[in-house]
Amino acid sequence: MVVYPSVLDESTGPGRDGRPGALAGLPTARRARGFAPGDRVGIPWLGEACGACEFCLTGRENLCRRARYTGYQLDGGYAEYAVADARFCVPLPPSYDDQHAAPLLCAGLIGYRAYGMAGHGRRVGIYGFGAAAHVITQVAVHDGRAVYAFVTPGDEQAKRFATAVGAAWAGDSSEAPPVPLDGAIIFAPVGALVPEALSRTVPGGTVVCAGIHMSDIPSFPYRLLWEERSIRSVANLTRHDARGFLDVAARVPIHTHVRPYPLEQANQALADLRSGTLSGAAVLVP
Ligand SMILES: [Zn+2]
Repeated sequence: MVVYPSVLDESTGPGRDGRPGALAGLPTARRARGFAPGDRVGIPWLGEACGACEFCLTGRENLCRRARYTGYQLDGGYAEYAVADARFCVPLPPSYDDQHAAPLLCAGLIGYRAYGMAGHGRRVGIYGFGAAAHVITQVAVHDGRAVYAFVTPGDEQAKRFATAVGAAWAGDSSEAPPVPLDGAIIFAPVGALVPEALSRTVPGGTVVCAGIHMSDIPSFPYRLLWEERSIRSVANLTRHDARGFLDVAARVPIHTHVRPYPLEQANQALADLRSGTLSGAAVLVP
């Protein structure tokens, strides 16, 4: 689960309520290209990439060494107003209000990239059932796939949440699913889940590690990897991912489960995430 500081209703010029927008003082040439004043835009995690390096020139700007990220190297992620590079902003589907759109831009986008790397098999395992998982499960079900959700052993609330958003089955992360998995995504930052997921995956299947951090992966017998199984990680997102995913989100449609927090309660949101009392996504509302 992730807290979403990075989005929400910033206007490209005078706001819909008549107040000046964040870019109102800039010369026209520097205004957002492709957006009209008053448009609602999302500002994803990838805030900037160099556009000139080998990664950027080969469709992999998510790996650009000079990329900068919203709310990390770029100011404004935790603010009422933000200046953002319009080339990296995305229009939001009008069917989503601000709070329900917010999780699409971080958990949704990273989850979607991970989902695309998990192969095309029908049975998808998801380890760790938080914000990203609840979004991607709905996409997978829409694609006619079956999701097998793995949660912290004994977390009955997470199991109920997983089945409520469409998982075909939910069980403890140490459990065997009722059928072998064609691919798996690990959202939980737990390295021990890598050999666990491999052991549940069919030959040729891929296990995708979708987190930025993960505890050490314990050593495991080669037979778990044998037969062309693979392990890979996912880092960040590209603008291509963002546009593709928001198109998908408009079509599915995805019902995001959110708990809003006032911006000044950001620390409480983080505490609730850590304690596992949140189902879905925490959204900070400036
Ligand atoms: Zn670059």
